[in-house]
Amino acid sequence: MDMEMDTQLLIGGKFEQGQGAPERIVNPRNGQLIVELPEGSDAQVDTAVEAAARAFDAWSRTTPAERSAALLKIADAIERDAESYADLESLNCGKPRHLVLADEIPAIVDCFRFFAGACRTVHGPLAGEYLPGHTSMVRRDPIGVVASIAPWNYPLMMAAWKVAPALAAGNTIVLKPSEQTPLTALKLARTLAEILPEGVANVIAGRGATVGQRLINHSAVAMISLTGDVGTGRKVIAAAQATLKRTHLELGGKAPVIVFDDADLESVVGGLRTFGFYNAGQDCTAACRVYAGPKLYDNLVADLSSAAGSLKFNQQDDSENEIGPLISERQRERVSSFVERAKATKHIEIATGGMQPAGSGFYYQPTVVAGAEQGDEIVRREVFGPVISVTRFSDVEQALQWANDSDYGLASSVWTKDIGRAMQAAARLRYGCTWINCHFMLANEMPHGGLKQSGYGKDLSMYALEDYTVPRHIMVKLP
Ligand code: NAD
Repeated sequence: MDMEMDTQLLIGGKFEQGQGAPERIVNPRNGQLIVELPEGSDAQVDTAVEAAARAFDAWSRTTPAERSAALLKIADAIERDAESYADLESLNCGKPRHLVLADEIPAIVDCFRFFAGACRTVHGPLAGEYLPGHTSMVRRDPIGVVASIAPWNYPLMMAAWKVAPALAAGNTIVLKPSEQTPLTALKLARTLAEILPEGVANVIAGRGATVGQRLINHSAVAMISLTGDVGTGRKVIAAAQATLKRTHLELGGKAPVIVFDDADLESVVGGLRTFGFYNAGQDCTAACRVYAGPKLYDNLVADLSSAAGSLKFNQQDDSENEIGPLISERQRERVSSFVERAKATKHIEIATGGMQPAGSGFYYQPTVVAGAEQGDEIVRREVFGPVISVTRFSDVEQALQWANDSDYGLASSVWTKDIGRAMQAAARLRYGCTWINCHFMLANEMPHGGLKQSGYGKDLSMYALEDYTVPRHIMVKLP
């Protein structure tokens, strides 16, 4: 494929080739090598952090209007280059290109535009005399150098969620994309370097165990923001303890979907077809753990199975594809092993899918696992693939108890025509987000983030700006 590809790292305003070990960047649609990309060396990581630290003083003292103008330029540049970003993201992740263009790029552009506006309108308590003869006021100041570590499922969007609020708040950053999906981040590096002062944004590609580990342990890093696995979150906390760095963690999920008997079956099935399998289920909010009411259960399993079976993938004409492959052979093996163990469970029925299709590429059939019980692995652990489990519940209390009985707490949904009942359920669900009669819909104005082992810290919204700043009290003794 004739495609322009940036392979250099951005370190303090300069572009250089990584000096570490090469990483094979592979096209998940056919398993072929796209490029061998050397990762950053320890010295390059250190230089990037030092550059970000040097740039902090001036950048943190820019006005919100100046930072806003820069973010708007970044948004415009991504919008202008939407086609080439979509080419790269589709190539590197196997995502259908038309969906990257229709769903991801507009949300990414809007994320930068939202934070461009938001950083000019941060509110807080009023200045005043809270002690007689003393005027108090609150400042919200940036934190310092942020290590921003992104996953592979939505590489550019996760980078945007981290870069935009951190920069809007006046921090400087070192962004590390996933070693599997660095291509759009390296293109973004070109855009950032054109628009921002030297050192404000640095981009270093490489593996977690090497580049990531070096970065999160660097003493000049003041905050670590990670979207990734729970195990990686623990490593971030361990690294943070030496210098008491701030941490901002967006980890896994296992979203419960409570479907009451009075729900509109057609919209539930349509919703699950989209929100359970989007991005081949490689989504921390994927609608993957369905609890269905006793009367509706059989029809739901039947209709969902035919809907899942109708999803188009691995078509020659990419514009027909609704989902792509999994990111890697390893991820496919992982997904497949979950389904194989489920198959071996007596009470479980694989209602559709459950196989790797023949041919090249890391595809896995959209799969519905029926008859799953609360204690089953398929109900409890994050699969991160195109697999939905369906469990029958007998009453509302049981449904809520099972939904909350999870190590995760990121996203959930409730489906019913009775909005009062939906609101009662929403109030009791221990999840960062509850959708009613929909799932998976995000707005840049609204917070996204979890409870429990899904992590803490909010992406998007004013809450993210709060997370990337620190409130400071200034008190003046009056004469
Ligand atoms: P991962 O934790 O393996 O990798 C995420 C990032 O962390 C990568 O850039 C990786 O290189 C880096 N990393 C790994 N080990 C590191 C270390 N020791 N030090 C520093 N950095 C390290 O996760 P993944 O497999 O890329 O992504 C999938 C996971 O992300 C899933 O569990 C998913 O649920 C989660 N996720 C969460 C959200 C959310 O908003 N909560 C969004 C998307 C994905």
